[in-house]
Amino acid sequence: MTTSMTDHYLENNKRYADGEAIHTSAHPGKQAIQPARRVAVVACMDARLDVEDLLGLQTGDAHIIRNAGGVVSEDAIRSLIISHHLLNTNEIMLIHHTRCGMLAFTDDLLKAGLEGDPAAEKLLAQATGRAFTSCQTSAASPSAFHAFRGPIEPLDAPRDAKNMERLTWDVRRGMSAILNHPWIPTSGTDAVTVRGFVYDVDTGKLEEVNYPGPMGSIG
Ligand SMILES: [Zn+2]
Repeated sequence: MTTSMTDHYLENNKRYADGEAIHTSAHPGKQAIQPARRVAVVACMDARLDVEDLLGLQTGDAHIIRNAGGVVSEDAIRSLIISHHLLNTNEIMLIHHTRCGMLAFTDDLLKAGLEGDPAAEKLLAQATGRAFTSCQTSAASPSAFHAFRGPIEPLDAPRDAKNMERLTWDVRRGMSAILNHPWIPTSGTDAVTVRGFVYDVDTGKLEEVNYPGPMGSIG
């Protein structure tokens, strides 16, 4: 069993949450193209997550793939395949987080608002506190926004058991997408490991999501 870089970064996260600065922001000089620690991180684009800081990543350590939600979308899979097969990474970390905007809407609601449904426009404006301006037209793409499954809640709502459940479901969904992808090996000599986490934006701490685990139903 080799040493897991993910465990090393989890130790860094504890130090970060206690107020320590681990990430060095200075340019490190010439480096190899392959991530030095062989890690790929998929994380939400949320402005409150500084992935380098919260893991204590140094420049050159890891690939960082970010999008709304930290969703393992087709494009994230594309990046992970390139990251592993061409650039030699072998540990994947998925990071969702508390108070995520993806808890505050549904795909149907956002599409309806963009297409010009007045009720949807009003709900989206209420949820975000921003005047929602419909584009009054349909569009073929994106095919999905990947909002998290479950009843919507106010934007930036504090952590509770229900929204943590929704977050952990989506982390598991992402892990499943990776673990079952035919082009991402998870056994044999070229295996990749995948671990999923929820980051608490109020405390700075990462919490691991067990896998497999419940995908549940909204009670
Ligand atoms: Zn988010």
